[in-house]
Amino acid sequence: MNIAIVGAGISGAYLGRLLTDEGLYADIYDTDNQDTACGCRSCGWAAPVGIERYLADVDLHLDDYLMGALSTMTFEGLAAKTPLCTINKPFLVSDLRSGLTVFQKALGPREAGAYDIIVDATGISRALLPPCRSDLVMPTLQYRVIAEPLGNEPLGAAVSGNWIPGLGYLWIFPLGAGEYHIGVGGIRLDTHERIMELFFQELARHYRVTPVCSCRGGVRLASPYYSTPFSVSRLRGDGKPQLIIGVGEAIGTVSPFTGEGIIYSLDCGRLLAASFPDEKRYTSNVMARFRWMKKERETVDYLLSDGKTTGPRLRDRWRFYRNARRSGIKLPLFEAFRRMGGLSRWIENP
Ligand SMILES: Cc1cc2nc3c(=O)[nH]c(=O)nc-3n(C[C@H](O)[C@H](O)[C@H](O)COP(=O)(O)OP(=O)(O)OC[C@H]3O[C@@H](n4cnc5c(N)ncnc54)[C@H](O)[C@@H]3O)c2cc1C
Repeated sequence: MNIAIVGAGISGAYLGRLLTDEGLYADIYDTDNQDTACGCRSCGWAAPVGIERYLADVDLHLDDYLMGALSTMTFEGLAAKTPLCTINKPFLVSDLRSGLTVFQKALGPREAGAYDIIVDATGISRALLPPCRSDLVMPTLQYRVIAEPLGNEPLGAAVSGNWIPGLGYLWIFPLGAGEYHIGVGGIRLDTHERIMELFFQELARHYRVTPVCSCRGGVRLASPYYSTPFSVSRLRGDGKPQLIIGVGEAIGTVSPFTGEGIIYSLDCGRLLAASFPDEKRYTSNVMARFRWMKKERETVDYLLSDGKTTGPRLRDRWRFYRNARRSGIKLPLFEAFRRMGGLSRWIENP
């Protein structure tokens, strides 16, 4: 079986390692981002420490990639304990790739003809599969900054929706040594730069902020259910069948509420390796594992819909609460419910 994996990000490189352990060797293709300082556009770093068990499968250790702990984070001013940390994703991706055959280029049509199975692990690009049946992408703008406190209080980890008109949020993730990722993402948002400018002005009252780099991106919030098809079959030039199958963010394994995709893309890689190359079993396993993402997407659709007179319904608030619990974030239940009502303010007075 000749296998190619296109995209050597978190899901593609992880899948490559898992398949190798099972004696299945894949050629890997990645165009790599040449235009970002870290060489990694989707440089998501916040992940639950539970990522450790996925790394252990391929003999890697979380400690080697830890940058900062997010043991306390404020959500809309509400302090919560979290099991999150920031990880050096470019280092991690580079270590996942070691030992694999990675070609730094796109898969051309002539080369593609040599493979029986091609995995689309191209994240937001979804370069090989047909379009999702109902896609939803949140544009983002993220800065890496140095923030030095003018007083004694270091800048803490935070997430806030109040800075964004409509649905979205602003995040502050400490990276250690006084550095932070500060970014904004918003569905249908086109004023990222202005929001960041205003936020930096606000921060300047308490911190000296020096930008290091910035990049634009997008996160697929469609959910797997709305990102079908996960696979297509076609005939190669020599008449033999060829299967294209998606993994990770290419097929929407991202939380529609939070944009968290790292741990779920690893999980998706694991599901594909466990059922490889049975695409039917894989599809049904992905649907079952990430059923909750469909519900989150439906809440997002509801909140975006026109003609709605009320804010989040009880079920929407419950889904937000469940989302926090799933990530291990300990929010006080009643207070969290009350504050999630703040969402209605964003929607009603965008
Ligand atoms: C600004 C931003 C911040 C984020 N923050 C977080 C976070 O804090 N925590 C979190 O969990 N998630 C975060 N995410 C989401 C997370 O980064 C993604 O969901 C996750 O990386 C998806 O993994 P993947 O392997 O499926 O795709 P990617 O990591 O995007 O990898 C795709 C790979 O495919 C390659 N590629 C693309 N097109 C082609 C092509 N045509 N040919 C060959 N190669 C190609 C790319 O170079 C890349 O290496 C963030 C996303 C963004 C944009």
